[in-house]
Amino acid sequence: MLARRPGSATQRAVRMNAVQALSEHHDPARAVGQLEAERRAGNLVDGFGRRFYYLRLSVTEVCNFRCSYCLPDGFLKTAPLSFLGIEEIARLTRAFALLGVAKVRLTGGEPTVRGDIGEIIARVAATPGIDKVAMTTNGWNLHRHVAAWRAAGLTNLNISIDDLDAATFAAITGHDRLDQVVAGLDAALALGMRAVKVNAVLLKASVPESFDRFAAFVKARPIAVRFIELMRTGDNVDYFAANHVSGAVLKAWLEARGWSARPRAFDDGPAIEYEHPDYVGRIGLIAPYGAGFCDSCNRLRVTARGKLRLCLFGEGGVDLRDLLTDDQPGAVVARVTAALVGKSAGHRLHEGHSGDTRHLAQLGG
Ligand code: SAM
Ligand code: SF4
Repeated sequence: MLARRPGSATQRAVRMNAVQALSEHHDPARAVGQLEAERRAGNLVDGFGRRFYYLRLSVTEVCNFRCSYCLPDGFLKTAPLSFLGIEEIARLTRAFALLGVAKVRLTGGEPTVRGDIGEIIARVAATPGIDKVAMTTNGWNLHRHVAAWRAAGLTNLNISIDDLDAATFAAITGHDRLDQVVAGLDAALALGMRAVKVNAVLLKASVPESFDRFAAFVKARPIAVRFIELMRTGDNVDYFAANHVSGAVLKAWLEARGWSARPRAFDDGPAIEYEHPDYVGRIGLIAPYGAGFCDSCNRLRVTARGKLRLCLFGEGGVDLRDLLTDDQPGAVVARVTAALVGKSAGHRLHEGHSGDTRHLAQLGG
């Protein structure tokens, strides 16, 4: 159980005052110099001692798939599609880099439905301090564009493939495109990306057969397949009740077949990955309902409309967009730092509380 750290909270308050003073100073050059020093200290820390060097940035709410647990009726427009533009994304990234963020993941909705996604990758990759540019995609057009995105600076790729049985894949996503997505994954591997991972939502009807299929898939591929326990959101309450299965099922399956949990790297986040001497790839588990899941939280989120979300299942959010009309990273830094004080110890999914999150396409999974 996480406990607040008075020492780190005090230090943070001191830093926050300094940053606020600088941002109110109307001396951008001086503020940025000071913030560079802050970045080198890598100290975006919350009241529980958790460090945040990872930003998940949603670039659109739109999606072309109809995943049964996320957007079963497809994307429905409920508000004007006024998502962050390239310049706003570049300014936002710069401010987060000054806060010590070194990794940005582009997500959505489906990030690759944006025609300017290549340019977004390039601008994020060109930001001083950002050394990993990741993207989570359903993979529909990877085979066509992944080489260009790699050249633009994409380093890490997560591809969502819930099942390797073509009919099951089509039934879950609404698209009969498994071969196309796998071709994109193999093209990404051939380009020497820093990491290629698969996200697969753990669904009751597919286990354990899908475990066999994914184990065969990673036999010779240097990738990690990470099963994500289905999460209950505002829109999928009945679906969740019918399809949720505990990650313990996967853990037992792996352990019975000689897979062992590998030591965690400092930036692993909440995934536990298993390895096996006969397999090149790994199989992992992301278990949001597991004990201590939020203790290793290392990420902040910004929605496609420029709202900071401190938790995937939080409420409200802090608007940053008004600060992105011109280059004022000090003001963004001050607002984010102040907001972090309110980050709670953990989500309340166990109590059936999904916050404002109707589905994950709304703010990036
Ligand atoms: N459209 C992209 C994709 O599917 O990869 C990016 C956005 S999607 C919201 C990000 C990830 O969240 C996907 O891997 C998806 O499977 C996962 N996801 C969506 N809804 C979920 C839920 N209710 N429970 C668990 N994972 C979910
Ligand atoms: Fe679209 Fe991703 Fe949601 Fe599937 S999980 S509907 S691909 S946003």
